[in-house]
Amino acid sequence: MHPSLMAIDEKIIAMEAWHLALPVNSRRDHGIGTVANAIEIVVVKLIAEGGAVGYGEGSPWSVFTGTPEANLAGLDRYLRPHVVDARIGDFETIMATAGKALVHCTEAKAALEAALLDVAGKILSKPVWALLGDQCRKEIPLSCSLANPDFDQDIELANRLVSDGVRYVKLKTGFRDHGFDMMRLETLKQDFPELTVRVDYNQGLGVADAMKQVPEIDRLEPSFIEQPVAFHEYDAMARLRDTTEAPLLADESVFGPEDMRRAIRENICDGVSVKIMKSGGMVRGMEVAKIAEEAGLPGYGGDMFETGLAHLPGVHMIAVSPNISLGCEFYQATYYLEKDLLAEPFPVENGMVQVPDAPGLGLEIDEDLIKRFDVSGSSSFNGNQLTG
Ligand SMILES: [Mg+2]
Repeated sequence: MHPSLMAIDEKIIAMEAWHLALPVNSRRDHGIGTVANAIEIVVVKLIAEGGAVGYGEGSPWSVFTGTPEANLAGLDRYLRPHVVDARIGDFETIMATAGKALVHCTEAKAALEAALLDVAGKILSKPVWALLGDQCRKEIPLSCSLANPDFDQDIELANRLVSDGVRYVKLKTGFRDHGFDMMRLETLKQDFPELTVRVDYNQGLGVADAMKQVPEIDRLEPSFIEQPVAFHEYDAMARLRDTTEAPLLADESVFGPEDMRRAIRENICDGVSVKIMKSGGMVRGMEVAKIAEEAGLPGYGGDMFETGLAHLPGVHMIAVSPNISLGCEFYQATYYLEKDLLAEPFPVENGMVQVPDAPGLGLEIDEDLIKRFDVSGSSSFNGNQLTG
C-alpha cells in the first residue's frame, strides 16, 4: 500500500449500511440459478472526522457467494466495532481484523475495503489505483455476458454491443440443454465475426455430461470455457483441461489466494476469473492474480451482479494488475440495470472501460437512490431464484 495511506491520522466517525434491490431489464439464466426482477446488494457509507465520505458495495448472490442479509448483518453488527473510531491509516489492521472477526461474507469485506480506500483517496486527492500499486493500463476491454433464455433478445443485445464497439461476449451455458448451447454458440460465431466469444457454464454440468458436452463446445472454438462443473470437482476440472483446446477458466473453484494455490497444485485451469466479491476485496484479488501469474496463468476481471459502485474497485484493481489481461465483465451498470447507483454513467468508451483518475473510486453515487431502492428489513422481497 502507498505510504501516504498509512500516514492518515483521521478516524472513521460513522458507518451506515443498507440492503438495496435494483430493478433489471431482463431475466438471466445461469448454470447455478436465475436472476430476474432485481439484483440485491449491500451498500456501506463511511464518514471520516474531517467530513470526507466513502462508499462501498457488496454484491452477493445466494447460490454463489452468499446473501445480502448475512452481509448486511456482517457489516452492521460484526465489522462496525472494528471500523468506527479506527484510524484510516491503520487500513491494513482494520482489514486483517475484519478477516478474523467474520468468516466468509467476502462481499461485506470487499464493500468495507472499497469504502475505506474511497475515503482515503479523497483525503489524499489520489485515485484508489494509486494507493494500490503501479498503474499498468488506462482502459480495460469490456465483455458483456449473454444469458437471456430468449435468444432473440440476446441477438438484439449483441447487435447493440457491436455498434457500441464492444468486442467480447460471454455466453452463459448449461442452464437448459446442450443443443441450445451449441445452437447459440454456433450462431454467435457465424453471425458476429467481430465478437470474441467465451463460454461460461457456472457449474451447470454434472461430471459425466461435462466430459461429453464440453469437448463438442470446444470444437466451435470459444476463446475460453469457464467452470463447467461444480466448484469442488477439482479432479474433473483437471481432466477437462486435458481434453479441451480452449483455455479452461476457474471461477467458482477459486475464491481467494488459498484456492488459487490449490488450483495450481492440482492443475485444474489455464486461467482464473478474479472477483473482489469472491476474494474479499481488491488487495486479496491482486494476490490471486499474482499467484496465478507466477504459474503462468492469466486472469479475467469477473464480477457478480453489481452496480457501477462495485465495478469501480474492480477497475482500480485491474489497473494495477498486469496479469488480469483477459478483459473485464463490468457490464451491468451500462447494459443490465434499469438505473445504476452512480450519478454519472459508468465510464465505457468504444468498448473499453476507462480507469478513473479522480480521487477515491473516482465517481460519486446518487445518494437519493439509496432511499428509493432500500429494502433493508423487508423479508418479502425476492429477486433471485433457482433455475426452473
Ligand atoms: Mg463465471
